[in-house]
Amino acid sequence: MNNIPSLNKTLSIVVPCYNEEESIPLFYAETLKQEQFFSEKGIAFEFIFVDDGSKDSTAAAVKKLRENDERVHLVSFSRNFGKESAIYAGFEKAAGDIVVLMDADLQDPPALLPEMYSYIENGHDFVGTRRVDRKGEPPIRSWFARRFYGLMRKISKTDIVDGARDYRMMTRKVCDAILSMKEYNRFSKGIFGWVGFDIKWLEYENIERVAGETKWSFIKLFLYSLEGIMAFSTMPLVLSMFFGIIFCILSLGALIFGIVRTAAFGEPFWGVPLIIFAVLFVGGIQLVCMGILGMYLSKTYLEVKQRPIYIIKEEL
Ligand code: UDP
Ligand code: MG
Repeated sequence: MNNIPSLNKTLSIVVPCYNEEESIPLFYAETLKQEQFFSEKGIAFEFIFVDDGSKDSTAAAVKKLRENDERVHLVSFSRNFGKESAIYAGFEKAAGDIVVLMDADLQDPPALLPEMYSYIENGHDFVGTRRVDRKGEPPIRSWFARRFYGLMRKISKTDIVDGARDYRMMTRKVCDAILSMKEYNRFSKGIFGWVGFDIKWLEYENIERVAGETKWSFIKLFLYSLEGIMAFSTMPLVLSMFFGIIFCILSLGALIFGIVRTAAFGEPFWGVPLIIFAVLFVGGIQLVCMGILGMYLSKTYLEVKQRPIYIIKEEL
């Protein structure tokens, strides 16, 4: 009699893909190398590739894998909804007892899977990974990233870890918790922190992607960081109020100063340049504050509409 246990558990591997036709076969082959470890523990693999409206033949690459392996599933979006939506769709389709989220470009090394699982086995619900360096990344991008995480730690109550990747393994409990957050403006790094649970962090050195190129331009990253700040902190609203109060006090002080100076020394009540300065300055502050309000309002508007997070074109 062999002592290999029957496969009674499933590990769902969720892979958001946007223009990853070259990476997908490499990713699949590399990940399968870990299969033996899991099947010895009675755990079967299930792949969920989410094609996030790719413009290349990503869907065809997945279908090709599916011809020989029916554990490969494909969800195709009707257009590019963004990685956050792809993650949500993947989690919804995942049937496994354990779920792991991985990038298609092999920047999330599959070789870490057994170690991640060992922590789940030991009772952790959530295993996260962190890059300890940002090798191969433009220095300016690293600098902004570090400033962003520093700021987030100060202004948000949610735990957002520097260098944390989306490469995470979790139990069904955690996956369901994440799915229960149905917000439209999704910022995973915040959502993962918000749901809590006892996270075990694994560290590894940065790996460059195997094929294709990164989908994150500097501008996209900058907007994404604003998204993160607004989704997980109301500090900018408080700040704009704070500025408002400070400038009211300052302008009152200036008024009193002007009155006293005119009354005591008969001097003219300030000059035109100062008035122009004051008008522009206060006007500027008002615009900033209105801008901040407007941004929150627009986010609220999108949430209130309750639009779907994604739309499926094809599902296999
Ligand atoms: N991705 C996606 N939708 C997008 C952008 C990216 O599903 O709109 C996927 C992409 O295919 C990859 C993962 O998200 O599997 C990470 O993207 P990328 O490697 O470009 O980001 P980086 O590793 O440079 O941060
Ligand atoms: Mg990548």
